[in-house]
Amino acid sequence: MHAEYGDQGRSGPVKQWHMVQDDSLTGLCGRDLVEGAATLAPTEWGQTQEVCCRACGVLWFQSVPFLADEHDRSKYLPHESP
Ligand SMILES: [Zn+2]
Repeated sequence: MHAEYGDQGRSGPVKQWHMVQDDSLTGLCGRDLVEGAATLAPTEWGQTQEVCCRACGVLWFQSVPFLADEHDRSKYLPHESP
């Protein structure tokens, strides 16, 4: 997991989390991410206070179905606000 920051860059709060492959600086959704950003283990997906990128979540769970089977998907994928 790789952090995306808002207007203030790395000195500001995390805007949302993206899932990346290995040490890639590109999210699964195609978003370019800054080097040196905060990272987290994939197991933290959905556990952070900040939002997790919905597109990354969908793509990631499609690529690792075994994880989705073991866990309740609704806890990981962000809920859509009305
Ligand atoms: Zn993303």
